[in-house]
Amino acid sequence: MQASKAKTTSVDAREAGQDEAIVYLNGEFLPLDQAKVPVLDRGFIFGDGIYEVVPAYSRRPFRWPEHLARLKRSLGKIKITNPYSDAEWLTLIESLIQRHPWSNQFIYLHITRGVAKRDHAFPKDCQPTVFAMSSALQAVPEALRSEGVAAITLDDQRWLHCDIKSISLLGNVLARQAAVDAHAAECIQFRDGQMTEGSSSNIWLVRGGEVIGAPVDHRILEGIRVGLIEALCKSCGIGFRTDAISRNEVFQADELLLSSATKEVLAITKVDGRAIGHGKPGPVYHKLYQAYQEAIAAN
Ligand code: PMP
Repeated sequence: MQASKAKTTSVDAREAGQDEAIVYLNGEFLPLDQAKVPVLDRGFIFGDGIYEVVPAYSRRPFRWPEHLARLKRSLGKIKITNPYSDAEWLTLIESLIQRHPWSNQFIYLHITRGVAKRDHAFPKDCQPTVFAMSSALQAVPEALRSEGVAAITLDDQRWLHCDIKSISLLGNVLARQAAVDAHAAECIQFRDGQMTEGSSSNIWLVRGGEVIGAPVDHRILEGIRVGLIEALCKSCGIGFRTDAISRNEVFQADELLLSSATKEVLAITKVDGRAIGHGKPGPVYHKLYQAYQEAIAAN
């Protein structure tokens, strides 16, 4: 029992690609395989918590003020008292970045309501659990950059607070697995016939040279790249707006894009086996990708 437990722990660390990983847990930096959370943590029991994923390039966090603002919004929406000051959050992520060898990293921050006797209602006097780790931020493979990726369409089966970056990700997990089962990279979800978002990305339609995204409301997560794509469109002279988008409009788009912290902006060139536009990443994708790289360089 003990031997198999030890084996599992080291495999966990190795599979995470983090043999040397140092993680943060409740005020301490410690090796990944020594970080333990009690089973009564409400994150484990109820999925009662929120998270953030922050990219860092050349060891500098990218769009940190926006990520911190979203983290605080998510905490506020589920009534977890923010345990740290803005300065403490920044120190935490900078300390994690400095402890790892990679120039480009992404920092995962995870806050739960804490450990308490199992009861749905909020416990009194519960200290939030704060966990953070860093991973190497791998560039998207060149073949996917030049060819784009495939997506499937799916009815959105998630709850109605997709604006909260909740750790309860079962709906997103099932959606992503449906894409993987169909040999696709992402799914494009629809609620009441209107496009919402991917399993872990925002989706953009390009039509007549204009970029159109889903309305930013409770049905989607406001990706940090939503504001960024809007700003990049502006600087590139590309029209930008949000609007209701139907399934047909997705198939008839000139281009489709996805955006996320780890994929930046990426072309979707096939949906449900059908080519989008010319079936290759288009001119708007190329302009936005270039502008994204310039924003990173200027960070
Ligand atoms: N929507 C969902 C459901 C996501 O999980 C993500 C990735 N965190 C996004 C959108 C994109 O957000 P961001 O640009 O902040 O990575």
